[in-house]
Amino acid sequence: MPRPILATIHPAALQHNLARAKAAAPDAKVWAVVKANAYGHGIERAFEGLRAADGFALLDLDEAQRIRDLGWRGPILLLEGVFEMRDLELCSRLSLWHTVHCTEQIDMLAAHKTNAPHRVFLKMNSGMNRLGFAPASYRSAWTRLNALPQVDEISLMTHFSDADGARFGQDGIAHQLATFNAATQDLPGERSLSNSAATLRYSADQLRTDWVRPGITLYGSSVDYPAHDIAHWGLQPAMTLSAKVIAVVPLSAGDSVGYGSSFVADKAMRIAVVACGYADGYPRICPTGTPVLIDGLPGHTVGRVSMDMITVDISHLPQAGMGSEVTLWGRASNGAVLSIDEVAAKAQTLGYELMCALAQRVPTQVDSMPI
Ligand SMILES: *Cc1c(COP(=O)(O)O)cnc(C)c1O
Repeated sequence: MPRPILATIHPAALQHNLARAKAAAPDAKVWAVVKANAYGHGIERAFEGLRAADGFALLDLDEAQRIRDLGWRGPILLLEGVFEMRDLELCSRLSLWHTVHCTEQIDMLAAHKTNAPHRVFLKMNSGMNRLGFAPASYRSAWTRLNALPQVDEISLMTHFSDADGARFGQDGIAHQLATFNAATQDLPGERSLSNSAATLRYSADQLRTDWVRPGITLYGSSVDYPAHDIAHWGLQPAMTLSAKVIAVVPLSAGDSVGYGSSFVADKAMRIAVVACGYADGYPRICPTGTPVLIDGLPGHTVGRVSMDMITVDISHLPQAGMGSEVTLWGRASNGAVLSIDEVAAKAQTLGYELMCALAQRVPTQVDSMPI
């Protein structure tokens, strides 16, 4: 028997969450962002649930190839563009659209031999200061691209640094939006501005974006937890991580649990040992008190997370024991939900990091619930 731990991907939840993103930007087309192997869900496993998207956005050429292998003939966008000349050949072969964020990428395009001109997304650095042309050089980049026979339509793109909250106590996107609008005022082309947070938290009228680029929302993590949870945004978890109880240990007052004896019982307790540890992607930093569901009922961890195991308190659950289902995040068999955001908050990180870090060794299945 394999070790009793399992990740389950829920296509129906992906489909539901995609519909939520579409509803938030009803006039826009949607890039389903599937970089990092669909945020740890697996591109092949996530594809069915996301096929109502208008296109797929990602970083790696091999991931683009995998989407084509699934039979997708629609748009695919490389969010960081190409890294070397050779990549442009594959863009031509797979009809990939690509971001252009620097002069070197324009140089490569100018030297690229192709019969089919490429659709490109010209990226502006409107204030995040990672990728993109500065507002002052954006227009000359556009003009140069526009003159290239290798280039078809040019779309206009930027990325927000603070769409999930405030910036210096002010509106999180106002400064970048103003910068972008001013520098693109009379340029033709479709516009793509919003990640998940901007899509959900700002009005479509204000953003006037032709393409939205939701990622995290599709996977059922809140864009601004703890201010708002997934229930507030009407999202469903797309990944469940669950494991079973493989031992039950009675404790007396004064007994400790696990490495470092970091938890000491102050009364008699029943502790369950669960087949999930940091080598499965469960964060080692999670302290005593990190929430879990035990047979779908609320509970929490005690003591240190070890490589292959965690320990949870089942003193309040007399029915729980050997073989009980423990949900680390996602949806329990009884339908109860533990959002990945609640666990991430205990680990001082975001749902993004936890889902992307699901370990290779965890067996993964696709939920058979029809979509
Ligand atoms: C990852 C990414 C997104 C999606 O961001 P979320 O916060 O997951 O919605 C959108 N645009 C770009 C350029 C990205 O790199």
